[in-house]
Amino acid sequence: MALLVATLGCYLRSAALFAAPPAPTQPPTAATVLLLLRPAAVFDGETLHSGWVVLVENDRIRAVGPAAQLTAPAGARTLELPGLTLLPGLIEGHSHLLLHPYNETPWNDQVLLESEALRVARATAHARATLAAGFTTARDLGTEGAGYADVGLKQAIEQGVIPGPRLLVATRALVATGSYGPKLSADVEVPQGAQEADGVDGIIRAVREQIGKGADVIKVYADYRWGPNEPSRATFSQDELNLIVQTANSAGRPVVAHASTPEGMRRATLSGVQTIEHGDNGTADVFKLMKQRGVALCPTVAAGDAISQYRGWHKGQGPEPERIRQKRESMKLARQSGVQLAMGGDVGVFAHGDNVREAELLVREYGFTPLDVLRGFTSGNARIFQLPDRGRIQPGLLADLVAVAGDPTQDVAALRQVKLVLKGGVEVR
Ligand SMILES: [Zn+2]
Repeated sequence: MALLVATLGCYLRSAALFAAPPAPTQPPTAATVLLLLRPAAVFDGETLHSGWVVLVENDRIRAVGPAAQLTAPAGARTLELPGLTLLPGLIEGHSHLLLHPYNETPWNDQVLLESEALRVARATAHARATLAAGFTTARDLGTEGAGYADVGLKQAIEQGVIPGPRLLVATRALVATGSYGPKLSADVEVPQGAQEADGVDGIIRAVREQIGKGADVIKVYADYRWGPNEPSRATFSQDELNLIVQTANSAGRPVVAHASTPEGMRRATLSGVQTIEHGDNGTADVFKLMKQRGVALCPTVAAGDAISQYRGWHKGQGPEPERIRQKRESMKLARQSGVQLAMGGDVGVFAHGDNVREAELLVREYGFTPLDVLRGFTSGNARIFQLPDRGRIQPGLLADLVAVAGDPTQDVAALRQVKLVLKGGVEVR
């Protein structure tokens, strides 16, 4: 007992020396972190404002406006960004983090020969490169044979295990039996790049299964090449597509459709999908229908451009391949129709981190202004993908911000000069 008293006495004396603070009356909260960003200009998702500054509080934008009207509150850290333009974090509309460029390894071999572990390891590097390029959100449209690996990848990013963009994942994607690939001999069953499903029961079950395992969006292939060396043709029936959209929408998930033929695009549009991916052979009529029904087109011009070059097209030399010529024609019709445009390159066909390639091509070869593509990759994609918490620099939205050298509203190449990336107020580059 004596020992105990002595020990206790010693403890009490040393505690008194340090003048312990009074017991807290409220549970401790994380300290507020304030950051004032002073770039040369702010692109708010719509318009460029010279001399504006942005105040970030924890993971959100607290204020934005002219420097003279916005002074740093006590305790705020100021980040001087001379010569830089601050933008909302870019939103990639169409990526496949579990694929790598087809000129490195053909798609068939990635699906059939690469283990899921290898593909996931690559995907972690792809996620890091995407974020470093200023893309703080990505809609990742199918694992192409890597099961539900995108769900785990998204969790690893959310838990801070690896750096990467905020992900909207599609998981396995849906195809009509027999319509997809890889295709070897008729005598061998090989794993497919997406989940086959047909008919009422099969489709309802597959959609619910993907949602239950973590799909944020349902991706469906509304057309595809049924055999090698033939053009794409429609796959799912109108009734099947309607059922996919009904089942997904009733669980609060949108549906996105891969479609390049007028018939596949028409059926997908009538079923009520959110976006149509590619649309290479779209006609004036089908774009008009899309506009009427509020379905957006994600044209992915960079994918066809990359694939044509992998097949031997030397850009700038000789005639353009038919595929590229056709794409220019359909893009003209799409723009004349006034259909909404989502922006995404089908990254994975080409290198992750090179996401800006789509924006560059749209400006340099498809007649868009730098402002068109900037709006598209920020506020436009946020609106179409129904992400009201991002895509603009406005008080209350997520502090996902990118600073680039120069003025990207004048020169799209400035998007390659990424100097700072903030995701949820945290500097990640
Ligand atoms: Zn794709």
